[in-house]
Amino acid sequence: KTRLAIKVDIAVIGAGQAGLSSAYHLQRLGLQPGKDFVVLDEAPQPGGAWQYRWPSLTLNTVNRVHDLPGLGFAEFAGGDGTVKASVAVPHYFAAYEEHFGLRVLRPARVSVVCDRGDRLRVESDRAVFSARGLINATGTWENPYIPEYPGAATFQGQQLHTRDYRTAEVFAGKHVLVVGGGISAIQLLDQISQVTRTTWVTRTPPRWREGPFTEEAGRKAVAMVEERVRAGLPPMAVVSVTGLPVTPAIEAMRQRGALERKPMFAEILPHGVRWPDGTELEVDVILWCTGFRSALDHLAPLQLREDSGGITMIGRLATQVARDARVHLVGYGPSASTIGANRAGGAAARELTTFLGLARSPGA
Ligand code: FAD
Repeated sequence: KTRLAIKVDIAVIGAGQAGLSSAYHLQRLGLQPGKDFVVLDEAPQPGGAWQYRWPSLTLNTVNRVHDLPGLGFAEFAGGDGTVKASVAVPHYFAAYEEHFGLRVLRPARVSVVCDRGDRLRVESDRAVFSARGLINATGTWENPYIPEYPGAATFQGQQLHTRDYRTAEVFAGKHVLVVGGGISAIQLLDQISQVTRTTWVTRTPPRWREGPFTEEAGRKAVAMVEERVRAGLPPMAVVSVTGLPVTPAIEAMRQRGALERKPMFAEILPHGVRWPDGTELEVDVILWCTGFRSALDHLAPLQLREDSGGITMIGRLATQVARDARVHLVGYGPSASTIGANRAGGAAARELTTFLGLARSPGA
């Protein structure tokens, strides 16, 4: 049976950095939360995907959490950086939602968005909405990526992804194979190699970056990803462009021999892996630190993708979908960082309200 849809102008899906920034700007543009626009989030509490991060990820070990517009993070961050990101950021987002009265509906998981002519039907497990425009800010946490290797189903040990990781101690006494060349792979390898035997494999040799990460390098990295999505190509990880910072922790890993990287294996065996030259290694655990992809399955009926698998993006900060101008993706591609998501939320709110003829407040 068809459920009755609640009419709104704009539906925002996701209440992480990207969704909250979008909501803030929609409100500034004169739209009323809970009436003209609605924010839906499937997580049980405020905090976006930060609420799920492993406990040892502290404000000292994250790259940086950028402020949301209108209320700074500093007073929620504690003094010395040892506070868990999974505590501080949810605390900040909760206060933010409350301060601006953003009225996030949660837990509300959006299963599907369908085209209904001049409206979009947004189906969630809490209610169905009929919206004229959509800001999708669902991040990547819900869509972990694990590459396919022959024999994976035969492996008798344990296979996990970054998102399953809690603490290194559970691996004590086991041989852990860490797969992946990004920052998460290295951070988890660091922790696990301090309590048990590890082997590290990456597809390509890691690209180390000596010296600080300059603003210019950041801009270049973002511009490269932006160029890709404007051309309709799938975005790529920003680290592949920026290189990995050589921190004191990494120097220490190098010195104790935990950073000796091997190339990717060709095949998974019941008790280990085998390389193309026939070398075999027994392992108990394969930890796939192989990243995430944008969580966009609920948008499948809108057919936003090109044959290349990418989505062609347009607009000032490349948040608008070329194939359907009513849809903005925030926190996707070049805006997949806290600072990028923040800016993109503003651009998406302005462009979408203009497109739909909704902007009311000249002060926004
Ligand atoms: P999220 O925070 O993932 O929020 C998306 C929200 O959408 C979630 O609350 C989710 O529940 C909800 N959602 C998803 N699907 C649905 C659905 N179908 N229906 C309803 N709700 C849904 N970036 C930085 O700038 N600095 C860092 O230090 C940093 N550290 C990181 C560390 C790790 C381990 C990882 C994995 C990423 C890190 N990033 C960092 C990248 C970071 O994820 C982004 O910068 C940013 O937090 C993403 O914000 P977001 O709003 O796009 O997504």
